[in-house]
Amino acid sequence: MATPAVMPSFSDSDRAELAQEADALIQRLRRHGRGEDGSVTRLVYTAAWQGAMAEIEDWFRAAGLPVRSDAVGSRFGRLSGDSPEVVLSGSHIDSVVRGGAYDGVLGVVIAGCAVHWLAATFGRPKRTIEVLANCEEESSRFSCNFWGGRAMTGRILEGESDRLTDPEGVSIGSAMRACGLDPERIPEAERADLVAFVEPHIEQGPVLATAGDVIGVVDQGVGVRGLSISLQGAAGHAGTIPMARRRDALTGAAEVVLGAERIAKEQGAPAVATVGHLTVEPGGFNQVPGSADFTIDFRHPNEAALDRFEASLLRMLEKVASGRELEARTRPLIGQPGIRFDDHVCACLETACQEAGVAWRRMPSHAGHDAQLLGSICPAAMLFVPSQGGHSHRPDEYTEVAHIGYGIEVLARTLFRLAYQD
Ligand SMILES: [Zn+2]
Repeated sequence: MATPAVMPSFSDSDRAELAQEADALIQRLRRHGRGEDGSVTRLVYTAAWQGAMAEIEDWFRAAGLPVRSDAVGSRFGRLSGDSPEVVLSGSHIDSVVRGGAYDGVLGVVIAGCAVHWLAATFGRPKRTIEVLANCEEESSRFSCNFWGGRAMTGRILEGESDRLTDPEGVSIGSAMRACGLDPERIPEAERADLVAFVEPHIEQGPVLATAGDVIGVVDQGVGVRGLSISLQGAAGHAGTIPMARRRDALTGAAEVVLGAERIAKEQGAPAVATVGHLTVEPGGFNQVPGSADFTIDFRHPNEAALDRFEASLLRMLEKVASGRELEARTRPLIGQPGIRFDDHVCACLETACQEAGVAWRRMPSHAGHDAQLLGSICPAAMLFVPSQGGHSHRPDEYTEVAHIGYGIEVLARTLFRLAYQD
């Protein structure tokens, strides 16, 4: 069949039908890892994760897309084209602990629906299209910092599969083996055939909903860094040690927490800093805290600004520690550079929004996403749909069905340009 120069109309009923298909699949997938409060906990390589992946595989096959798994268990539904070059679209299947039913999974579902429609309407594309169901993105079981994306971009280091363990002490390598995956084969997951990646995702913030826009064309991704900090003081009796003699690790940590907040505010938006984890030893109500271990997550889209941010945080930490006679140790936790997404892929998304007649805006992403990794090996960009109330990583995540329909239409039009046209 001859490929038309402009995609013919994507009708209102196409959009409504595909949105219903997507919603039905979201409802089926949320059963895998469902908690009593309606939350979803679907951590990589667990039974819930395996159940969701099996459901996705069945759906890909029913849509006429043959499925394969890569070495780390990410699934790819394939629509073969004349060229083996691959236009990839999708997102991740795993969730955070007690998260919702939309983060990640909705991107897989939107991509699957768009490709299903393109295959049924136009048949074989010029370039091959694959729908990605990425195995892991959230770092919620192992601190693995984009396991699926790092496998595809060849960034998993030798020995990591033994070193990374979950809170029960299970290594990520043995969790893989329990799912029938061989950690020795991880290098085989690296991709050299990608020519574009488009990641649909929920916004996870309030910008679209507040502005009344339905689609976000995401042209940059924020840089994320994490520091693990340990403050060592001296534990002791809460009654007998005078205030002047104390080396209280927790009061020091409190000063650092407030200092991080002050530095982020002084840098100004979009800089953010968060202390989300803190433990105190020995932890008795009648004991002066001898050690405090905590994390600082800080973000900015600009690498130079992120460097200045980090330098200010470390100077502040040093000052607090020396003023309180505490010993400070720091260790990098994660590091993901910011990225400017590809101009051409963003332009395709914008044209698709105009053709669909939907309210849209350009915007940055303030969360880390796989597109930041894949964008380092091929042209990439993201498409956001609204998150009700700006909520994510909690049980009440929700995106309106009509908005999902527009997400599918905009992605279908974008993939048409990237895979069916020159
Ligand atoms: Zn996500």
